[in-house]
Amino acid sequence: MPWKDNHNRKHAANMREWRKTHPMSEEQRVRDRARAYAKVYLKRGLLKKLPCSVCADPQAQMHHPDYCKPLDVIWLCVKHHKDLHDWPLFRGVG
Ligand SMILES: [Zn+2]
Ligand SMILES: [Zn+2]
Repeated sequence: MPWKDNHNRKHAANMREWRKTHPMSEEQRVRDRARAYAKVYLKRGLLKKLPCSVCADPQAQMHHPDYCKPLDVIWLCVKHHKDLHDWPLFRGVG
């Protein structure tokens, strides 16, 4: 068996093992996709960067209330973004 083939096979097996302990949830995938979408739209100027909707801090981050709507974002500063995520109802939402 060629070395490379053997190596790839081993690597794939390692990845499978790693995935078992680090599963990528569907939610994670959807979140990644929503963020990627938003980034592209932001770059194209189709999404407008706004200040924090709570305190008007210009250093705001995007928050997605619903990942099924990647362009439906709320702008929040680091503090208010964190506050929102600390609220159990919103935990796990990006
Ligand atoms: Zn704020
Ligand atoms: Zn968020």
